[in-house]
Amino acid sequence: MDLAYRDITYCKNVGAKRADILHSELDVRTAMDMLRQYPYKYIDRSRFYRIAELDDEDTYVQIIGEVTEWHTVGIGKAQRLSATFFDGTHQCELVWFQGVKYVKLQRGIKYLLFGKPSRFQHVYNFVHPELTPMSKVTPEMTQGLEPYYNTTEKMKRVGMNSKAMRAIIADLLPDLKAGVPDTIGADVLQKYRLMSLTDALINVHFPKDTLSMQKARARLKFEELFYVQMQILRQMKRREQNPGFAMPIVGNRFHALYKSLPFELTGAQKRVIHEIHDDLKSGHQMNRLLQGDVGSGKTLVALLCCLLAVDNGYQTCIMAPTEILANQHYETLKAFLAPLGDAVHVALLTGSTSLKNRVPIHNGLMNGTIHILIGTHALLEDTVQWQNLGFVVIDEQHRFGVAQRARLWTKNQTPPHVLVMTATPIPRTLAMTVYGDLQVSVIDELPPGRKPVQTIHYDIRRRAQVYSFMRKQIDEGRQIYVVYPLIKESEKMDLQDLENGFNELCEAFPNYKISMVHGKMKASDKDFQMQRFVNGETQILVATTVIEVGVNVPNATVMMIQNAERFGLSQLHQLRGRVGRGADQSYCLLLTNMELTSDTRKRMDIMVATNDGFRIAEADLQLRGPGDLQGTLQSGTPFELHIANLATDGQLVSLARQAALDILDQDPLLEDEMNRIYKNQLDLLRIKQAYDWGDIS
Ligand code: ADP
Ligand code: MG
Repeated sequence: MDLAYRDITYCKNVGAKRADILHSELDVRTAMDMLRQYPYKYIDRSRFYRIAELDDEDTYVQIIGEVTEWHTVGIGKAQRLSATFFDGTHQCELVWFQGVKYVKLQRGIKYLLFGKPSRFQHVYNFVHPELTPMSKVTPEMTQGLEPYYNTTEKMKRVGMNSKAMRAIIADLLPDLKAGVPDTIGADVLQKYRLMSLTDALINVHFPKDTLSMQKARARLKFEELFYVQMQILRQMKRREQNPGFAMPIVGNRFHALYKSLPFELTGAQKRVIHEIHDDLKSGHQMNRLLQGDVGSGKTLVALLCCLLAVDNGYQTCIMAPTEILANQHYETLKAFLAPLGDAVHVALLTGSTSLKNRVPIHNGLMNGTIHILIGTHALLEDTVQWQNLGFVVIDEQHRFGVAQRARLWTKNQTPPHVLVMTATPIPRTLAMTVYGDLQVSVIDELPPGRKPVQTIHYDIRRRAQVYSFMRKQIDEGRQIYVVYPLIKESEKMDLQDLENGFNELCEAFPNYKISMVHGKMKASDKDFQMQRFVNGETQILVATTVIEVGVNVPNATVMMIQNAERFGLSQLHQLRGRVGRGADQSYCLLLTNMELTSDTRKRMDIMVATNDGFRIAEADLQLRGPGDLQGTLQSGTPFELHIANLATDGQLVSLARQAALDILDQDPLLEDEMNRIYKNQLDLLRIKQAYDWGDIS
C-alpha cells in the first residue's frame, strides 16, 4: 500500500500506544510521515579512532582496545565504576554511574568502545560508553553513517529513543525501495541535479556514504524551501491580480513639500519614491517592504508617499508600534507640513486620546477631511471608519503581528496600498522567506554629513573611565542613554539590576538629573519620564530596552549599554541608532564582563568595526543558531523548517525561489495538467498547516 496512506499504528515495532505518542509528539500519522522525520546528525561508524587522535570536539567516536583495570567506588546508589581502556599506545578512562552491576568486564579480550569523549586534566574519559566485545560486533554495526533522531522525553519514557526510531524506519525500507511518488517534477529534478524523492529518503536515513547523505539532504532541503516559496509566490501572484486604487497624479501637495525641504533627498530616497509611485499608478494593490537603516530617512519617504495618495483624493494612515513613536511621528510630520498650511490635515489617534477628542477624529475620517491619521493599534478599532483609505504605512513592522495587519485590509472593499517599513535590515535569504510576498525597496544611503557613531568596547574594570567620559559629554550639554538588558525569565531580577544601576548612577552623577523607564511601568509614568528626557530636563535616561524603537533625541550623543554581552547584534545596532542624530559626534559604549565567549567577542568586534546594518544582519544570521532563527521566522510567517536552515542554505533558497517562480510565471494558478503534482502537494500542505495564512498577509 502507498506509504502515504499506511497508518503508522500497524507498522512493525509501533502499535497503538506508540502510535498515539508519535502522533501527539511528532505529528506522525502515516508511514510516510515517519519517513519524513529526518536524522539531526550522523555518526560515522566506518571510522575507527586512536586515543591519540581525540580532540575536544563534541562528537561520538569508536576505538578498539582492551580494558586493563577497573574498580568500583562507593556503595548502593552512589556506586560508580571506573575502568582504564588501552588501545595499544594510549589509555583513557571509562565511567559508569548507573547500572554498575550490569556492566560485565573481562580482561584480555578486545572491545569496541563507542561513546563521546570529554577531557579532564589531559585524560579523556567516556561516561556510560557502549562497550561491545569484538566477537559480538556485526558488520552492520560498523558500516556507514549511523542516523540519530530527535525524540522527546515523553517518547523516551516508552522506550522510543533514537534507536527505536531507526528500527521503525528500517522496517519501512523495503517498501520505500519499491518507489514513492515524487513531489517535484522530473524536469526540475534534472535541471537542478536533484535526487528523486525515493533515493533521497533512502539515503537520508541509511546513507551509503557522506556524499549520498549530503545529496539526499540537499534534495529534501530544496523541496522544503521550494514549497515555502510556492506558497509565498502563489499568494503574491494572486494578490497581483487584486485591483488596487490607481493613483497616477503627482500633485500640488507633493510638489509643495518637496520644494519646502531644507535639504536634498538622497539618491536612494528618490529611487524608492519612484518605485512606490510606479506601484501606485499601476492599478494593482501594492505590498511593499521598505528597508533602511536607522536614520536613513524613511519617515520622510513615507510622508511624501502619503501626499502622493492624498493628491489623488485618498486618505492615508501611519501606524506605529508605541504611543511615544506615534507622538513623535505626529510632531515630525506637522513640522514638515507647516509650510503647506491648511492643505494637509493630520490627526493623531492613540490609546490615550480622550473620548471627547475622538469624536471629531472619527467624523473627520468619515467625511474625508482628515488626510493623514497617525496612531497606534487604536487605528485598528472597529469604530475607526474611513471615507476612502487608500494608502497604509506600517512602521517598524516587527512589532506587529500578521493578524493585526490583516484587520487594516478589511477596512475597504478594495484593499489599500501597503508600505511596511523596517529599520532592522534583513539578510537577503531571510527576507525572501519572511517577506517573500512583498516587493522590496531599500534605502542604502544615509543623508550626507552624518558623523558615523563611534563604537567602543570596554570591560567593567574600566567603568570609572566610562563614567568620566560620560561626565565630560554632559558638561558639554549633551544627553546620555544608559540601557540595561532584559532577561525574560526573571523580570524581578531585571528590575533589581535596573534599580541598582539607577542608584549607582545617581551616586556617580550627583549633579545631574536622571530619568528611568522600564517595561513594568504604567504607560503614563513611562511617557512622563521619557518626555522629561526628550525636553532636556534630565541628562541621563536609564532604561531597559523599551527605548529600542524609534525615539529621536538629537541632543543625545552617548549610548551606554550595560552587560552588552547579553544583547543580540541587531538589538545592539538598533540601540546604537538612537544616537548620532544631531550635529555632534556620537558614541556607543559597550560595557561587558571581562570573560567573554568567543561568540560574544565576535559580536562586540563587529559592532566596533562597522555601522552597516546589512553587514551586521548577515553576521547576526551566521552567529545565531537555527533555533533562534526559527523564532525570528515564526514571528514573521507560519512556516516551520524541518531540514533547511536559512542561515546556511542561502543558495538553496535562491534556487528554490527561482524554480517556483519559473513554474508560476507560466501557470500562476497551477491549472496545467503538468503542474498537478504541485497543486496537489500545496493542497496537502494547506490542510496540514490548518490555516490559510495566504489571505492574511
Ligand atoms: P528613519 O526613520 O529611517 O530612522 P528618519 O526618517 O527619522 O530616519 O530620519 C532621520 C533624520 O534625518 C530626520 O531628522 C530627517 O528629517 C532627516 N533626513 C531625512 N532625509 C534627509 C536628507 N535627504 N537629508 C538630510 N536629512 C534628512
Ligand atoms: Mg524611523
